[in-house]
Amino acid sequence: MDEGTLRDFRELLEGRMRGLLGGGYAPGARLADRGGIEPMDEADLASHHCDQALVHTFHYRNQQLVHEIRSAIKRIDDGDFGICSLCSTSIGLGRLKARPTAMLCIRCQEMMESVKRKYSGSRRMGAVA
Ligand SMILES: [Zn+2]
Repeated sequence: MDEGTLRDFRELLEGRMRGLLGGGYAPGARLADRGGIEPMDEADLASHHCDQALVHTFHYRNQQLVHEIRSAIKRIDDGDFGICSLCSTSIGLGRLKARPTAMLCIRCQEMMESVKRKYSGSRRMGAVA
């Protein structure tokens, strides 16, 4: 991959990172509005629990994305960006444009998803039996 393309990807990734770390959508904002007042009734309580679950999910997903972006930037630094971490072939520009944090080529990604589906399928069947 040429220097210009790598620079474009780095700028894209750093921009996304700034977006994630700099705020934007924050489901916790509603919680702050409450100012620590006790929930008034079951509906408020349910809403409060729902907000908390949303904040935790949002925070976890955000952390994951930040980690994926940091890892992609490190791969640019290390010269491994765009190389499949399983089979070492080129990931492909189209896939990287759609998902700049991709670590696997489409073939390996499909193989991993197939294994995951197989595993989760057998677990579900095990739970029923
Ligand atoms: Zn691969």
